[in-house]
Amino acid sequence: MKTIGKIVLTCVGILTVLVVIVFYETILHPQRSGKVVQWIRDPQDHADWAVHANEQCQDAPFFIPTDGMIGYLWGDSFQIGHTHQGIDIFGGTEAGITPVYAAYDGYLTRLPDWKSSLIIRIPDDPLQSGRQIWIYYTHLADENGSSYIIDTFPAGTSEVFVAAGTLLGYQGNYSGTPNNPVGVHLHFSIVQSDSDGTFKNELEIKNTLDPSPYLGLPLNGKENKDIIPVCGTHQN
Ligand SMILES: [Zn+2]
Repeated sequence: MKTIGKIVLTCVGILTVLVVIVFYETILHPQRSGKVVQWIRDPQDHADWAVHANEQCQDAPFFIPTDGMIGYLWGDSFQIGHTHQGIDIFGGTEAGITPVYAAYDGYLTRLPDWKSSLIIRIPDDPLQSGRQIWIYYTHLADENGSSYIIDTFPAGTSEVFVAAGTLLGYQGNYSGTPNNPVGVHLHFSIVQSDSDGTFKNELEIKNTLDPSPYLGLPLNGKENKDIIPVCGTHQN
């Protein structure tokens, strides 16, 4: 009887996992997860899916901040009740290899407890003059939280000017919890300023902006369900 009980429990367990996977893949991410897996397995085979660091798409003001495939978009849902506040660019390399750059001129801050994150203040939004915005970067550390941000910007850095195209660090896989790696990528988002001039909580989508017009790419996950965003015609 004990054995039968165990078998039944195992079957129920396996079924539950399958239902969760099917739900995750088909309801939440109809197309994208499969493509991300294909990209990570063989980036060379899908070179046309990649964007390239420091290129500008269309007439957009921001530079692309790193190389790789834009796997998840602004507004994608990974789990019920949570909406992605930025874009995820997967370098297709191991951690610590793919460089990450400033997308626009601004003032870099790294809070004292930030291992893998930094934020750049842009005093004058290029698309809405007169308002201040921020660009937020994260996952720039290895799975244990050892930082890949370059030494120029140690924890505690405040308001250091960086020009667009400045090297900031390298893509990593730190999730915020040691030994719980996410896939190697850069998370990049545009965060609104609070009335006191600081940045709003970057973890809530309502405090962020659709990055599409800033990068000249279809990055709104509610509107773009299956197209992999790449630069169309290159600007000189
Ligand atoms: Zn992300």
